[in-house]
Amino acid sequence: MAKDCLFCKIIAGEIPSDKLYEDDDVFAFRDIAPQAPMHILIIPKQHLHGPEAVMEEHERVIGKLMRKADYIAKKEGLSHYRLVCNNGADAGQTVFHLHMHIIGGRPLSWPPG
Ligand code: AMP
Repeated sequence: MAKDCLFCKIIAGEIPSDKLYEDDDVFAFRDIAPQAPMHILIIPKQHLHGPEAVMEEHERVIGKLMRKADYIAKKEGLSHYRLVCNNGADAGQTVFHLHMHIIGGRPLSWPPG
């Protein structure tokens, strides 16, 4: 757990969340400011500050993150969805604990702004 990390505090239950899924490696909860009818965040329990912090030793957990994202999306009734993982402030990252957005429930345009 990283000190002063919002998502580490959510995993620890120190900050409440609308949790949808949890196992030994990953945690998923609804985004507090949804950008679509369905907007879920899935995160590794281990603190990694973003995609660029992923090393070879994390490949199993990051693969699981992707697999569980699909599982949660389907469980929530989404067959079509978008996964977004921002790296760095200019890409839109505001919370520096690796997370994947699962977004869906409406048609999504491309490219993003
Ligand atoms: P990003 O901009 O990619 O770093 O995404 C961070 C996301 O975390 C944003 O979509 C926020 O709305 C979301 N967020 C921030 N605080 C909370 C919170 N307490 N509970 C749920 N989602 C949050």
